[in-house]
Amino acid sequence: MPTYDFRCLNCRRSFDVYLSYQEYGEKKIVCPYCESEQVTRKIGRIRVARSEDSHLENLADPSNLDGLEDDPRALGRMMRKMSSEVGEEMGPEFDEVVGRLEAGQSPEEIEKHIPDLGGEGGEGSPGGMMEDDF
Ligand SMILES: [Zn+2]
Repeated sequence: MPTYDFRCLNCRRSFDVYLSYQEYGEKKIVCPYCESEQVTRKIGRIRVARSEDSHLENLADPSNLDGLEDDPRALGRMMRKMSSEVGEEMGPEFDEVVGRLEAGQSPEEIEKHIPDLGGEGGEGSPGGMMEDDF
C-alpha cells in the first residue's frame, strides 16, 4: 500500500497515511493530532524547470530590492545579474545605467545624465527621426 505524506494546515504537523489507490481521493483524511480535516497532500521536493519568467519574477521580488535604493552598486549588480539571466542584449543604455550604478551613482543622478530613461521623453528629439526621409 502506498504511503502518502500529508500535512495538517491547522497544527502544521506532517503525518503519513496508508491508502490504497482506491481509497486515495475517496477517503477523508483527518489529522491524527488535532483531527482537523484541513490537511493537504505533501508533495515531495520536485525540481521544476523554471522558466525565465519566474527567474525574473524572483529577481523582481520586492523583498530582493530592499535597501537597493540606497546601494547603487548592489542595484547595479542585481541588474547585471538580471540581464545575464535573461540572456538578452539589453542595449547600450542598460549597460550604461548598470555601469553608472556600479560606479556608485544614484539612480536619480543617472536619470539626469540619461534623460531618455525617465520615460517622459519620446516626443522630443527633433531631427533624429527625420534623417531617413532625406
Ligand atoms: Zn493537525
